[in-house]
Amino acid sequence: MTRCFTGRGLASGQDVVHPAPPPPADAGTRASETVTTTDTARTPIRVELAGPHTRIHASLCMACPHGLAGCCAAPPAVAWADIGRIVQLGGAGWLLDEIGAGRLRPSPRGLAILRNPPAEVEGRAFPGRCVYLGARGCTIAPERRSATCNYYVCDEALAEGGESEGEPTARAASTARAAGTASEARTAREVHTALMDLYAYGDLEIAEAITSAWPAGPVWNEAFLGWLGTRYEEMLRRRRRQLRRLTP
Ligand code: SF4
Ligand code: SF4
Repeated sequence: MTRCFTGRGLASGQDVVHPAPPPPADAGTRASETVTTTDTARTPIRVELAGPHTRIHASLCMACPHGLAGCCAAPPAVAWADIGRIVQLGGAGWLLDEIGAGRLRPSPRGLAILRNPPAEVEGRAFPGRCVYLGARGCTIAPERRSATCNYYVCDEALAEGGESEGEPTARAASTARAAGTASEARTAREVHTALMDLYAYGDLEIAEAITSAWPAGPVWNEAFLGWLGTRYEEMLRRRRRQLRRLTP
């Protein structure tokens, strides 16, 4: 399974929907993000360094080769460290509401995101997909997503940015910023790897602490979420050297 989840924007200052469908001419503000047709003139890859909240944006997501839902056809887990991150960013109440509504479901790794079945949306046939994917992209803010949604980029998207050859692709080369774009693609790969390591480490560490504190499994309430937020912050403190390269 292709594990590709992004919630990435492209043009500077603009937040573009997560994946695939090119925005209609009248695309405008959605629940949490803005789509503009000017984004079609974007750079192929853009890294937005923000420590553990770093985002990588790829233009290929607007015309994803994997279909209308792109990576959001198979949403990632909102794993233990992701939950801690969301809590740290003020989302504990939101998480409890989403669990209550059934859009997030407790699972052995943390929370699983509900998937919607295939359906026609605004005249386009969408496959089964993450419940948070709207007709124009992700409908929740980056602060409420799994970190994976914010930093994941597939190999195709990195190649589009010129990573493979160390030089811009033909398409990228047609822009004046081609050389810079190739460099951005290489940075994106490094950042992507660092974030995968960070969150994998955090998940394992927090999972062990949960098993030790709640052998029969945790109770999903405010106290437990607050505890997760604290474990996440402690994990970040221990990994501060690793985080330095993700800081602008
Ligand atoms: S281009 Fe790649 S990263 Fe973007 S939505 Fe498609 S599969 Fe995901
Ligand atoms: S939360 Fe769902 S719709 Fe949003 S980026 Fe992640 S997988 Fe895609």
